[in-house]
Amino acid sequence: MYSRHELLSWCKELRTTQDASHERLAVIVVGVDRFARVRGAVGYGLAEMVMAELGRRIDGFTHNQRTSRLAPDCIGVALTLPANDQGCTRTLSELHTALEEPMVLQGHKLHVSIRIGYSLWDSPELSTTDVLHQAEMALDQARESSRPVQLFSTEEYGDPLSRLVLLDELNAGLAGGQMQLLYQPQVRTRTGEVAGVEALIRWNHPVRGMVPPNHFIPTAEETGLIRDMTEWAIGQALRDAEIIRDAGHDITMGVNISSRLLGDATFLDRTERMIRERPGRLTFEITESSEIHDWPMAIRILRTLSDWGVRISIDDYGSGMSSLAYVQQLPAHELKIDRLFVTQLTSSHRDPLLVRSTIELGHALELEVVAEGIQDSETLALLTMMGCDLVQGYFIGVPQPVDQLIKYLDRGDARQRTANASPRSLIG
Ligand code: C2E
Ligand code: MG
Ligand code: MG
Repeated sequence: MYSRHELLSWCKELRTTQDASHERLAVIVVGVDRFARVRGAVGYGLAEMVMAELGRRIDGFTHNQRTSRLAPDCIGVALTLPANDQGCTRTLSELHTALEEPMVLQGHKLHVSIRIGYSLWDSPELSTTDVLHQAEMALDQARESSRPVQLFSTEEYGDPLSRLVLLDELNAGLAGGQMQLLYQPQVRTRTGEVAGVEALIRWNHPVRGMVPPNHFIPTAEETGLIRDMTEWAIGQALRDAEIIRDAGHDITMGVNISSRLLGDATFLDRTERMIRERPGRLTFEITESSEIHDWPMAIRILRTLSDWGVRISIDDYGSGMSSLAYVQQLPAHELKIDRLFVTQLTSSHRDPLLVRSTIELGHALELEVVAEGIQDSETLALLTMMGCDLVQGYFIGVPQPVDQLIKYLDRGDARQRTANASPRSLIG
């Protein structure tokens, strides 16, 4: 396959030969869903064969337009599409179907889930780089919205300028008290007691309403604002812990920490000050926002945090690019299984195997294992039977403001929920 650079020059060439009255030029980016997971399941060699097979199918479909490998999990191609919208949609949906056909590689039948993002080159002001970039953004959006095929549109994505607007608003929102933490209970399967909560950030925007974190955390991470935001979250969680303690409940407060901050010594200094001012039981859930470049530094920071009594949890285990490396190298107390593997635990054949082996792996490494995303009593019963230590999910308790959480704790809701889900509910 060709490089990104070659794709860009091929785009330019296509444009000069295109018949603008009947067709329009598009750049499409084909992405394999959860490629890291696929690669983890079938191995590097076979995963590469999957990408090569997809390349061949795209070649066949587009009559040998040149494909290029844009990233380990993405292939880009420039092609002409019918001038009318319906024709465009139909063509790409046919391509999507062709790419999702099961493949047989080295005697194994594989099915991968595909997303397609595309962008139309319909404005002379756009450069080839712009069009490719837009197609990549459309692929991101397809992945977020679970749509198989997604056209780039400025309305949905905004332009770079509106990202800056978002950043300005985010800065103002953080300074102006528009952020809020909701707390989701985590329950010990053995006893039914609430051991802790996870703090989940929300942005209460004056015009946009309640904005979920995946709409603004990536921007905060890219721009460095994540440090201030995380410090705010730690401070708020410690303040709320006092309120919860005064109400008679002593629980651990879990705060999400982007792995990016594990390369930031200033973050550590400020965290130390906060912990000294207002001691409380804390768990830091390390979310994999970016690859850790300086492992010795990350490990030093985590050890220091541990020495101060902060529990370290590896979040979203199984979904990231380097999950195993994380568990092997990071000094942690807890492993948190990604909800992807949990929400379909009772209906899938493979997920129970993965979850069971993750629980065993965690225990072998003397880590507590938490599962998130429990939405029904069967899943809870199965996880309990598998020996999972802690559970979290809508079935047990939704993310809620601190005053509602205290009522939830007072009523003993968690115990009722877990008591109803005995392993017996799995049988019959
Ligand atoms: P996460 O840390 O894995 O958080 C769990 C997410 O699962 C939350 O989404 C939660 O609302 C959702 N969830 C809980 N129970 C269920 C369930 O039963 N089923 C399903 N399908 N989902 C469930 P939320 O609040 O939208 O957070 C998304 C992600 O945003 C978090 O994933 C975390 O990575 C990030 N995040 C949230 N708050 C913060 C924060 O303060 N700082 C940083 N850096 N990241 C944060
Ligand atoms: Mg988390
Ligand atoms: Mg998680």
